[in-house]
Amino acid sequence: MMTVIICAAGKGERTGFNENKILRELNGLPVLSYSLSAFAPFVDEILVTVTEKDEERINALLSPFPNARIVRGGNTRSESVYHALKEARSDIVLVHDAARPFVTEQIIRDCIDSVKNYGSGVCALPATDTVVFTRANQILSVPDRGTIYTVQTPQGFETKKLLAAYEQAIQAQNTFTDESGVYAAFIEPPRLFVGDVKNKKLTFAEDFSITERVGFGVDTHAFYSEKEGAPLIGFITLGGARIPSERALKAHSDGDVLVHALMDALLSAAGLRDIGYYFPDTDEKYRGADSMELLAEVMRLVKEQQLKPRNVSISILAEKPRLSPYIEPMKSSLAEVLSLPLSQIGIAAGTNEKLGYIGEGKGITVYAMVLLKGA
Ligand code: MG
Repeated sequence: MMTVIICAAGKGERTGFNENKILRELNGLPVLSYSLSAFAPFVDEILVTVTEKDEERINALLSPFPNARIVRGGNTRSESVYHALKEARSDIVLVHDAARPFVTEQIIRDCIDSVKNYGSGVCALPATDTVVFTRANQILSVPDRGTIYTVQTPQGFETKKLLAAYEQAIQAQNTFTDESGVYAAFIEPPRLFVGDVKNKKLTFAEDFSITERVGFGVDTHAFYSEKEGAPLIGFITLGGARIPSERALKAHSDGDVLVHALMDALLSAAGLRDIGYYFPDTDEKYRGADSMELLAEVMRLVKEQQLKPRNVSISILAEKPRLSPYIEPMKSSLAEVLSLPLSQIGIAAGTNEKLGYIGEGKGITVYAMVLLKGA
């Protein structure tokens, strides 16, 4: 029998979020859910330590896992783990921090094997930075890096022994940051196994910016035909740039077909509705609207989702007008609104080899892709 205790009773104060970081979404899933899914196939029992404040929300996340239940945590991590240990029904227990959502199958297997073979298994990585002993901002000595490891979770033990160690630690009112310290202090030096750099702990708000979301958008606008009598404005607007054109594009707004495709890509990547929803062409407010202003509004919506563009890639299909002299001006105007360096904006312009509506010069189609990342 195997139990995992997942520590979720922290406050995550270093992130500066107004909620427990393990409830924060990462690519659409709460951080805690990653650990639940990772351990579920390996264990008979999942105990999640929680604070009173988060109890309801965490309980809801446990519903897909019939072997999981919550345990009310204490004032410190040690107290919380101790409470859970008293409830653990298995002879082997793994302890894992919910703030390490990227724990791999290999790590879990190695942890279990180490407990079975050596009585304990502590996930650790050889130090890559030099570690020093300090006092009052002075470096006193530099230990041999070859002997230094940084300790992660999971950490596995025989339940009886870890419980005995914690009983002594709680009684002695010693504070420990994890199980390895408690076990080393009261039982024996625990055995380590080498983990994986992927098993990173989410500590600061920046750690959550790994979210990546791709988005795609397309738009087509038709030129006024000769029969329809084109408004003689002498230019079209594409990517915020004015481009000389014999005929104008039909549109409710300024007809910036590139910006429309881009806005749909941004909204789509953020999981929001399309531009027709936010800026309906039945609304007189948007008659002749400056699409760059609408793009700025879309950027505000994206920002509200804690996302920002990483790069955009745009492809314009038009038989005419000639676009190549205007690619750089388009990039500059987009860079400003998207807050991106020019190097992160790609714009290609091509014809349709005289085929179809584009080839006949009846309209322009633009495809846009964006990659958003956590802001
Ligand atoms: Mg449009």
